[in-house]
Amino acid sequence: MSGINIKYTKLFINNEFVDAISKKTFETINPATGEKIANIAEADKEDIDKAVAAARKAFSRNSEWRNLDASQRGKLLFKLTSLIERDIDELGRLESLDNGKTVSDAVFDINCAIDTFRYYAGWCDKIHGNTIPADGGVICMTRQEPVGVVGQLIPWNYPILMLAWKWGPALAAGCTLVLKPAEQTPLTALYLAALSKEAGFPAGVINIVTGYGPNTGAAIASHMQIDKVAFTGSTIVGRKIMEAAANSNLKRVSLELGGKSPLVIFDDADVDEAVEIAHNAIFANHGQNCCAGSRTFVHEKIYDEFVKKATLKAEQKKVGDPFDSNTEQGPQIDERMMNRVLQYIQSGKSEGAKLETGGARIGNKGFFVQPTVFSNVADNMTIAKEEIFGPVQTILKFSSLEEVIDRANSSNYGLAAGVVTKNLNTALTFAKSVDAGSVWVNCYDYVVPQAPFGGFKQSGKGRELGEDSLKEYLEVKTITIKVPKQN
Ligand code: NAP
Ligand code: MG
Repeated sequence: MSGINIKYTKLFINNEFVDAISKKTFETINPATGEKIANIAEADKEDIDKAVAAARKAFSRNSEWRNLDASQRGKLLFKLTSLIERDIDELGRLESLDNGKTVSDAVFDINCAIDTFRYYAGWCDKIHGNTIPADGGVICMTRQEPVGVVGQLIPWNYPILMLAWKWGPALAAGCTLVLKPAEQTPLTALYLAALSKEAGFPAGVINIVTGYGPNTGAAIASHMQIDKVAFTGSTIVGRKIMEAAANSNLKRVSLELGGKSPLVIFDDADVDEAVEIAHNAIFANHGQNCCAGSRTFVHEKIYDEFVKKATLKAEQKKVGDPFDSNTEQGPQIDERMMNRVLQYIQSGKSEGAKLETGGARIGNKGFFVQPTVFSNVADNMTIAKEEIFGPVQTILKFSSLEEVIDRANSSNYGLAAGVVTKNLNTALTFAKSVDAGSVWVNCYDYVVPQAPFGGFKQSGKGRELGEDSLKEYLEVKTITIKVPKQN
């Protein structure tokens, strides 16, 4: 194997690594080989109760965490950030082993996580309310207070980065948390738990519970002592999270769900540059990206040239061992997801799209799929409507701005969109008219900690990153002080 020492496999509760009460474990698998990496503790409801009790205690009025100066919270986050930087090589290899992305992609993600943590560390002592000129001569002010104990459920596509997007604002706001990583990728979350202890976070502030969504995850979503749940994953499960919140204690919910994001290439674009942008928009992270540019709309005047060049680009992609520095694409996350991608490819073929390249599994060890390109895709085909979450580019033809805006918006999703054009009016008209939380002009997937990210329509609820994400973790309290009238 990779020679990586797996140090952490147990639940992290109250700053200790502990077995599940049932002693149950599950396997985490290396998607490049299909082989087991390690047995991981599998949490049940009783373990969640334990983790939530620790988080509640750490959030209690007189706790160390609640009485820290805000700037001290910032220092803890800065310390955690520098420990991640210290261990970036080991973390990068661990992420690659568990997830299948290349080591260099994993290190890139970790650097983005580092930027995210630093950004929120800086926020800690800059979160404040207002004084308000309220009627009646009172003094009226607001305080921004942490929402309480938060449950966080994250997916497997960007394990460390999704953790940073969740921990950063929650900890900056002063919340305590119980996080469940995806069943496929528990290893780096547990490693970061150990680093949080080393950084000096008080016991109970950060807890990690590993296990399966329908059991461990559902226990978090329906817990009566959790004040807010933040979820990233599929729209189907997002709906269940809202239902569980409604049926339990009406906890706050933020959701970052899927997408079927349009990327529109106009005929004034430099075709080579547009091919490059569109290729990376869909093939990054093996297509396992919520904001992937998964509907490539290309103007009819450049369509044939674009398809030819996009096909060539996909054919040149190096797929293989994530630990080989020449590799550009590793395996899909697991067998189930690989088979799902292959089924979508089958549906594309049977519904009449033209398969330009790819379309099959590579080998029979690990979960590799050929970079695949479909042309002649119509809006009503399954591959143009549903999230494939794999290395499959679908290229559609359009002829006018008005037409492509309507087609871009005819989706239940609204996470992201992109446009490639030299014409400012075209770019701005598209950006203004498209139903999407993020719009990229002459670039794609440009996500930074300072700017909000999230979905319109069924792509989500609330925002991550930027100041907006902090608000998801804060309650506003209004304090009104009666001032005696002066005679
Ligand atoms: P998923 O089931 O939505 O998983 C996301 C997270 O939710 C995981 O931690 C999962 O735990 C947990 N979960 C699952 N069922 C749950 C429940 N009933 N209650 C609480 N938590 C639950 O996603 P998936 O099955 O891995 O992937 C399916 C599709 O989701 C993908 O094809 C893609 O379309 C979409 N997806 C989107 C994103 C994104 O970034 N927005 C990320 C991943 C997947 P377990 O992993 O332990 O089951
Ligand atoms: Mg794994």
